[in-house]
Amino acid sequence: MTLPPQALPRQPATTTPTQQFGSDNYAGICPQALEAINRAATASTPAYGDDAWTRLAARAVTDLFAAPQARVFFVFNGTAANALVLATLCPSYCAIIASEIAHVDTSERGAAEFFSGGARLITPPTPDGKLTLAAITQAMRRTRDFGASTPAVVSITQPTENGLLYSVDEIRAIANACHDNGLRLHMDGARFANAVAALECTPAAMTWQSGVDALSFGGTKNGMAVGDAVVFFTPQLAQGFAERAKQAGQIAAKMRFLSAPWLSMLQSGAWLANARHANASAQAFAQAITGLNGVELAWPVQSNAVFVLMPEHVANALRAQGWRFHTLFGSVYRFVFAWDAHADSIAALAADLRRCTQG
Ligand SMILES: *Cc1c(COP(=O)(O)O)cnc(C)c1O
Repeated sequence: MTLPPQALPRQPATTTPTQQFGSDNYAGICPQALEAINRAATASTPAYGDDAWTRLAARAVTDLFAAPQARVFFVFNGTAANALVLATLCPSYCAIIASEIAHVDTSERGAAEFFSGGARLITPPTPDGKLTLAAITQAMRRTRDFGASTPAVVSITQPTENGLLYSVDEIRAIANACHDNGLRLHMDGARFANAVAALECTPAAMTWQSGVDALSFGGTKNGMAVGDAVVFFTPQLAQGFAERAKQAGQIAAKMRFLSAPWLSMLQSGAWLANARHANASAQAFAQAITGLNGVELAWPVQSNAVFVLMPEHVANALRAQGWRFHTLFGSVYRFVFAWDAHADSIAALAADLRRCTQG
């Protein structure tokens, strides 16, 4: 059967806009990840993760973190990683502290509350998207009453939803506050690679050496087709995770197609090269729009996203040119760059934005 032409996706236009920067999820599969899928494609191997690729990929993750004791799991996406880690770390009658713009609160339809079976999310205001020590300690104190859902976990996003980074010292300070009060620290690292590339520290320094207990380690936004990893740095904390993942439908039957790309990405160094390219692309775009009339950066560019403050009519005009991008809130707009960002497309976007500001 042949599909009618109108059912097929339209070919990308050959004129501007050639490539869109609405999300790093717009990007396709990077060569290293695709090659791994191809290599695994014809092999016959045990199912549900009981295969050599999955074992080697888990090993590559623990090697990356210099944490041989860590427990590693592969799930389909970041929402599942976050929700299942938080459900594992947080009893149903307790609470999770996260920033008011945390993906776990704003973009996951209550998955953490659902999978934990009742845990509450406490989301104190965060002036720049980063959870502060003061906000965390205040949230901890507020709920000392027996009837209140006692905080059991703090979840920080690295880099944050608005593209900012917690320094290693900031992470350590938050972790110390957590552990002093009997809480666990989770890191939502949907763009963890971008944070490592930007801070030029080791994955270990940014996580367990600074007191992070569990990590959602994004693979999809880093260039894979699908699949994020979960890392528990203390094996005991992983108790029940595999069972929860199975219950949630997150144990892939052909797990090798999630895990083999991880092995390839980590062994080849593509995970970091992709992130460096994405971060540099964001810097290039920020540079290209510096000084445009009425256009400002909402926050400093610290990872692979650029948040632009611009008048609504300028944003509308840019959209009318065919460009796609998110409105974060008010007149703050988001552009995100991935492993495949082309310098030409970035220049085209910046040129169109310049034209739009000139009315
Ligand atoms: C993209 C993202 C996720 C994961 O989202 P999925 O669509 O479920 O893969 C989680 N946290 C943050 C901060 C994200 O940006």
